[in-house]
Amino acid sequence: MSNTGATANPTLDPNLKSWAPGANDEGTEFPIQNLPWCVFARKADAHIGRHTHEDGSVHEHSHINPLFGVAIGTGILDLHMLLEAGELESVFDDEEMNAISHAFEDTCLNSLAELGPAVTSKLRRAASEYLREGGTSGGGGQQARRLRTKVIVPMNEALLLPPMHVGNYTDFYASMHHATNVGAMFRPDNALLPNYKHVPIGYHGRASSLVVSGNDIRRPKGQQSPPEDGSSGPVFGPCKMLDYELEVGAFIGRGNEMGEPIGIADARQYIFGFCLLNDWSARDIQKWEYQPLGPFLAKNFASSISPFVVSLEALEPFRCEGSVRPAGDPEPMAYLNDKTDRASGGFDVTLEVLIATAKMREAKVAPSRVSIGNLKDLYWTFSQFVAHHTVNGCNLQPGDLLGSGTVSGADPASRGCLLELTWDGIDPATKKPKPRKPVQLPGGETRTFLQDGDEVIFRAWCERPGFRRIGFGECRGVILAAK
Ligand code: CA
Repeated sequence: MSNTGATANPTLDPNLKSWAPGANDEGTEFPIQNLPWCVFARKADAHIGRHTHEDGSVHEHSHINPLFGVAIGTGILDLHMLLEAGELESVFDDEEMNAISHAFEDTCLNSLAELGPAVTSKLRRAASEYLREGGTSGGGGQQARRLRTKVIVPMNEALLLPPMHVGNYTDFYASMHHATNVGAMFRPDNALLPNYKHVPIGYHGRASSLVVSGNDIRRPKGQQSPPEDGSSGPVFGPCKMLDYELEVGAFIGRGNEMGEPIGIADARQYIFGFCLLNDWSARDIQKWEYQPLGPFLAKNFASSISPFVVSLEALEPFRCEGSVRPAGDPEPMAYLNDKTDRASGGFDVTLEVLIATAKMREAKVAPSRVSIGNLKDLYWTFSQFVAHHTVNGCNLQPGDLLGSGTVSGADPASRGCLLELTWDGIDPATKKPKPRKPVQLPGGETRTFLQDGDEVIFRAWCERPGFRRIGFGECRGVILAAK
């Protein structure tokens, strides 16, 4: 495991403590070593109104002032306030200061991310130095003390907004276990297609329907396959096989010029950070529509992201081998093959999925874990995604989102969607799929796919001896009945 970055980077020192509330708590997701980026509004300043027209239609209007922040303990450090108080002036030269001030006028982090890791790393370090015990927030007497009381916004007083404006969303398919499990449902003898170990499989998703955690998800309607008994043609109606997909998304910071591929050795420099991603999927719609051009309406009705962008720097101590290729697997082609990426292109991030049904929430029963896996189980790395995506000259842009694809490991308990979790294999006698094995939930409820009122919650964290545990925050969504 490579930890050269970890030991060289003072923001990752496990002994650092912060004066911010909750930052030194054992179980916090946001110790001073994490500092994930976010965009938020102070609820007290936000005005959200609702007006019902005579025809019954509802018009919602809002006046919110998006601010940039980093999560710390039980709150968010308001970077705008820090900037306005002059606390960043000693950190940046005039040119950088101009670029930062300009980026802070944006409503999301794209312009900041576009400045590249040299600048964002300095800003992260400035936030760390301001927040640490005995750090730069201590000087200046009364004025400094006053700033400290205002500059941290408690989470419950903040409205979390989409962190990036996503122009393009690409979804990969990088878990070999997921590809094998899903392939086996359709091709029991030939589960993994022959291209899988050579080419990182992906497709272009839809950016307009990306929502931030906490937004409800409307059950989609659409065409589905004719019934198996052949009693009718294809049917239309609400999706009956609604699923989640547990993924991690990478946001692009700097982009590349069209026609100028990003080499794999440089790819890390182009990733701003990571979020959790729920790529909601309508399996019955997918099954009917996916051939020959791949997923379309089964995937583009909604995808949810967590509001915090965990930086590559914060994840540096948790890097691991890029991919453990089984013996005999082909070497990646040269443009996908890099020594450093092989040694440390992966991330050891524990990923958890929980479900809370409407009944459970009503009875105040805690959400129930349905799977636990790890991001290190991917066959392809995020650097390989970037190199592959651009090898033909395709230009990535600041804020583009690259999804990992459903993360499943070898262990059945780590399967990252219900399609896989409730699959019980093919009956050798009939050569047909066995009935699905439902997931058991508290109170006797079971699920093969999601029902209206179900809430799906993703969580993720990194742990390693000698380093502070860090978390990603949550990615949540409740299923609403079809319209
Ligand atoms: Ca997906």
